[in-house]
Amino acid sequence: MSIKDNVEYISKKKNEAAERGGQKGDEVLLVAVTKLHSPDEINQAIDAGITDIGENKVQEILDKYDRVKPVKWHLIGHLQTNKVKYIIDKVELIHSVDSFKLAKEIEKRASEHDKIMDILVQVNPYEEESKFGIEPDKVEELISDIKENCPHIRIKGMMCIAPFFDEPEDTRPVFRMVKEMYDKHSDFSILSMGMSHDFEVAIEEGANLIRVGTSIFGNRDYRSEER
Ligand SMILES: *Cc1c(COP(=O)(O)O)cnc(C)c1O
Repeated sequence: MSIKDNVEYISKKKNEAAERGGQKGDEVLLVAVTKLHSPDEINQAIDAGITDIGENKVQEILDKYDRVKPVKWHLIGHLQTNKVKYIIDKVELIHSVDSFKLAKEIEKRASEHDKIMDILVQVNPYEEESKFGIEPDKVEELISDIKENCPHIRIKGMMCIAPFFDEPEDTRPVFRMVKEMYDKHSDFSILSMGMSHDFEVAIEEGANLIRVGTSIFGNRDYRSEER
């Protein structure tokens, strides 16, 4: 299957899951996760209709930025404060804000660029499995701290990376929990959850942005990272 075929197939699956969950297909955004894939592959996805791409490392965004056709960039991985300045004028949405320290740095850099930066708060519903994301009982405090102190940040919603279960159905309670936290905020409009393995369940539970890599581009060659 070509990248184009995969984009079409995933889009169809996305739209069907949206219907099952009571959303419209075009209200759920497919972000193609392009980490460890080449500009050529990314451009094939863009030609197939992809409008938004996600990278989890700042360096990869910088390396590829000028070699990829016009597209919206999303930073979906852990962001170190000292790297915010490199991407503040390049990305559409930062999915991974999980501390006030990071928010303050984004505020500073966004204000220097005289822009409002859209972000998501990354929730970690499974504390023991991942070191990134904020624990559920601290989420509300982080949101109010950002709203009170960061006029150049607009919180658009929440993101989560669910733990991997062999059976995607087992992830459903995690997605449901994050959706409940998201629903407390009537001003939120983006719920980013679901990856290749579990995006259909995520959409059924209310995700309106999914991050899909492997099912579009095939397996990533992590060895190439060392080159
Ligand atoms: C790599 C990655 C994805 C995509 O994962 P696939 O299983 O390849 O679809 C989604 N979100 C984040 C944060 C990632 O790092």
